[in-house]
Amino acid sequence: MATYEYLCSRCGPFDVKLAMGTAPEVYGCPVCAGSARRVYSSPGLLPTSNVAAALHDQEEQAREAPAVVSEVPPRSGVRQQPHPALSRLPRP
Ligand SMILES: [Zn+2]
Repeated sequence: MATYEYLCSRCGPFDVKLAMGTAPEVYGCPVCAGSARRVYSSPGLLPTSNVAAALHDQEEQAREAPAVVSEVPPRSGVRQQPHPALSRLPRP
């Protein structure tokens, strides 16, 4: 369903929810039953934060041209300790 905006010359603007692509150019006004003309307006886009926009751009760029890794990244400074339960296992 999509919301379409119509303008009645007597009653003013009103919205109608219809299946996408089925909105007629003229629709019956729900108040006076007169004919209302379809009005085209900008979609309600939500502003995004700079961080979200940067992440979106980065994701789009990675989709088009992913970064190629040519070597194994260096290990981090923290060495992982073995799980403590491993010391309780029987030894041969
Ligand atoms: Zn009307």
